[in-house]
Amino acid sequence: MVDLHCHILPGVDDGARDLSESIEMAKIAVQQGIHTIVATPHHLNNRYENPKQSILARVEELNRVLLDEKIDIKILPGQEVRIHGELAEGYDLGKILPVNHTQYVLVEFSSNHVPRYTETLFYDLQNKGLIPVIVHPERNQEIIENPDILYELVQKGALSQVTASSITGNFGKKIMKFTYQLIDANLTHFIASDAHNTRSRTFNLHEAYDLVQTKYGNEMVYLFEENAALLIEGDHVYKEVPERIKKKRFFNIF
Ligand code: FE
Repeated sequence: MVDLHCHILPGVDDGARDLSESIEMAKIAVQQGIHTIVATPHHLNNRYENPKQSILARVEELNRVLLDEKIDIKILPGQEVRIHGELAEGYDLGKILPVNHTQYVLVEFSSNHVPRYTETLFYDLQNKGLIPVIVHPERNQEIIENPDILYELVQKGALSQVTASSITGNFGKKIMKFTYQLIDANLTHFIASDAHNTRSRTFNLHEAYDLVQTKYGNEMVYLFEENAALLIEGDHVYKEVPERIKKKRFFNIF
């Protein structure tokens, strides 16, 4: 399978600290059944810069090391872009790196807020031929409180990616239940690990897909796996018609 969100590049953000941790992460990924990882260092989050060109060079380097180590996994270049007002300009300036040079850009909100300019910004990005993929919406406080925010963005063409560890309950019950609600409402299109290390923030992708299979069946697993494979090729992904999560139901659950 493909993991399209992972902090496996060594020493560039809060992910792998050094090369040996990157190698350990790659080994775990292979055990998980992952054959391709998109390296997605933070861009403009916590002062991490990681512009496009530096990521490309580091991905090439890591692929060389993994080949030497005989670890059968391919690393593709990507970036997790913290939302900011000048994101579209950043793309024009060559600082933004969509996943594997496709049209898909991973966009991260802060944990508690969705900026008012998001809709306009996404519109601008889409006019440039880009498709924003909102990462871990299930961990954003404002979206948890008002899922319609995500509905509106998806309705207008954005995609979203939930984190495997949210499905497995590693971020708590509340986030786990909300993640399932997003899946039920066709508000998410991808599952990825967002792995940062081998300990506290590891892959859990295999475990997450197992749970999706138990709850939704093979077809849903296929859809998520296939979507990740389509994304890295820059192909169209499967999208069902998004639905609103009813607030009443939402509050009854918690
Ligand atoms: Fe991340």
